[in-house]
Formats: sequence, structure tokens, C-alpha cells
Amino acid sequence: METARTIQSILQDKSLDQDLQMIAGKVFAGQRISEAEGITLFEKGSLSYLGALANFIREKRHGDRTYFNRNFHIEPTNVCLYTCTFCSYSRLIKQRSDGWEYSLEEIMDIVRAYDGKPVTEVHIVGGVLPQYDVPFYEELFQTIKAHRPDLHVKALTPVEFHYIFKKAKISYEEGMARMQAAGLDSMPGGGAEIFHPEIRDQIAGGKCTGEQWLRIHEIWHELGGRSNATMLYGHIESFAHRVDHLEQLRKLQDKTGGFQTFIPLKFRNKDNQMSHIEESTVIEDLRNYAISRIYLDNFDHIKAYWPMIGRSTAQLSLAFGVNDIDGTIDDTTKIYSMAGSEEQTPALSTEELVNLIRRVGRQPIERDTLYGVIQDYTDHQFAADTQFKGYVSLPVVNK
Ligand code: SF4
Repeated sequence: METARTIQSILQDKSLDQDLQMIAGKVFAGQRISEAEGITLFEKGSLSYLGALANFIREKRHGDRTYFNRNFHIEPTNVCLYTCTFCSYSRLIKQRSDGWEYSLEEIMDIVRAYDGKPVTEVHIVGGVLPQYDVPFYEELFQTIKAHRPDLHVKALTPVEFHYIFKKAKISYEEGMARMQAAGLDSMPGGGAEIFHPEIRDQIAGGKCTGEQWLRIHEIWHELGGRSNATMLYGHIESFAHRVDHLEQLRKLQDKTGGFQTFIPLKFRNKDNQMSHIEESTVIEDLRNYAISRIYLDNFDHIKAYWPMIGRSTAQLSLAFGVNDIDGTIDDTTKIYSMAGSEEQTPALSTEELVNLIRRVGRQPIERDTLYGVIQDYTDHQFAADTQFKGYVSLPVVNK
């Protein structure tokens, strides 16, 4: 895939800021950038400069390969004890009647609705409530596994784990081992928000701290498990807070190697306590993807959630370091739409997702949760009447 500017052209650009020139040299040589350089990128890196660096790394690692998977989401409840100021999803405990609280049987009804469908993963996250405790989740994971052993259970974040282990008066080590024994296969990346307490205390006070979030992932990695990581950006944090967040993830990844994917999450301002804050622009979103790709040199994958940012930005992001655009999820998730995301009824068939990737010149690869290749769709032909017909040629006027 061609991008407007290449890293080679940047290295030859004598008019470029010296700091940016130096960082480009490091990236070209495969060297790690420092925290100060990370901040420099946020402060001074133009979109085309950052895109060229991030795309260089992306293509060195993955070529045009762009991953997606077939999954479905279950949110056991949207009632929550916590009051994160950015959260549009949770009905506070006071408005409990507006929310839902599924029983184990109701959750299993959702799982059974996918019987016979070619999904490989169930993604389970939701609010925090006392009845969803260690025994509940143990029984849930065991029941899912007994019903469909090959379904990968990716579930809960340190926010839930911290709460349920504390309530059960057990250590993180014991708790995570019990979750694994019950059938937990991997952990999603949520609940990370911004680690730095200056920000975390203001937007997510009361739930697990940044250190606790990192510690639970560390223990999970030590048990041989894999997980993802996120960062909620574009609200009250500074660039330094973002770089601090990335730095802490990079350090833990050096230690354990257990993270698979980093997923930047854009703050959305609909129907929450931070509605007065303007959302980041598409340009800032793309810069943030690119800097994440450049900074996290020990993460294999950078993912964009297409339901959150919309299909067009997801396509663009593939030129800014992103190599995964999540799954063919249907409207079983409300987290994005309730926050005012681009896609209010997020659903894409495999064919639509494949075409979305192909249209920007990338290779669609269906993966399982652990990035095993299920099918390479690069040359796959869909039924004749619905396949992508290619671009219509337009006259070229300025050549
Ligand atoms: S972000 Fe999560 S922990 Fe915070 S209020 Fe919303 S559902 Fe609860």
C-alpha cells in the first residue's frame, strides 16, 4: 500500500526539525524511542510524518496483512457500582431499573443463539455489581466451556477482577488461577483508561488503580495467559500522561511478553459527565494510532475498533500503524453506541469487512483470538452478485 510520504523521504528532508529527524533515524534503524521523544512526537509530529513512520513499522512487521475475527459480545449488566465520568454505558445503581442484569441462564441463551455459527470468540465485559462474583463467573465460564469447548472465552478486566477478588478475600494470584481453571482463555484490554493517578483519580476514582491493573495482567501472563491493553484518550489528559501510559505498558511487556494487542480508545462525549469536553479530531485519532505504533515496539498488533471510530476512519487507520480492525461483531454490544460512537448498530458481515480492508489495498486475514490464521481472504471470491467490483475509473485531471 502506498502512503503519501515514506520514511526514506523524511530521512532526506533537510528542512525537517532536528528532533523529528533523529526519531525517524531511530525508527528506521529499529531502535526504541524514549519517553521524551514520545512527547516530541505528540507535540511536533505532523500527520504525514507520523503516518510514514508508523506505516514503515506496520509493513515491516505485517506487510499488508490486516486481521479481523468473528466474535460476539455479552455484557452481563450495564448497572455499575462505579461512577467513571466518561462512562455513557453504565446506569448508576440509583437508576437500576433502566438497566439490565442477566442471570447465568440468560447469558447462556445468548451463547446458545450462536450455536452452529462460525464464531470463534465470546467477549464478556460489563458493569460491576455484587451478584457477579467469583462463584458466578466460575460457573459461567465452566458452563460455556461445557456447552461449546472450542469457543474462546475472553472475559473481564482488572476492574472486575480486583472487585470480585477483594470481595472474596482472595489474592490476585489465587483469583486468576481460579478463573483460568474455570475456563477463562484470555483477557481483553479494558479498564486501563489513563494509568496516571492525576487523571485516573478524576475520571475513574474508586476502581482499580493503574498499578493494580498492570499487576493483574502480569499475574495472568505469568500463568501463561495472553491479554490486550487499551488507553482512553482525548479527554483531560496531557500528552505526557499518554506517553506515561504507553511507557508502563511497554515496561510490563518487556517483562512478560504477554500482551498481544494495543487498542487506543477514543473518548466519546455523549450522555456522560464529561459531555462538555470536545472530542478529538480524526487527525488527532490517526496521530495517536501512529504514535502508539511507533512507541510500543514490543507489541505485535495495534487495533482499531471500527464500531467506535466508524468504517472510513478504520480504513484510514490502516495507513497509520493499525493492522487489526476487530471483528464482525453484531449489535450485541451497547458499549460503543451508548457512548455516541460512529456506528449505532455495529454489524458487518465477513464479506463487508473483507471488502472494507481490500478497498484500501490491504490483505484481509481472519484470525482466532491468539492470531492463529483461520483464513486468508486476499484472493477469496464471494458469491458473484455481491463481490467487490473494484473502483470505477475516473478521469485524471492534473497529470
Ligand atoms: S467504565 Fe466500567 S467501571 Fe466505570 S462506571 Fe462504566 S461500567 Fe462501571
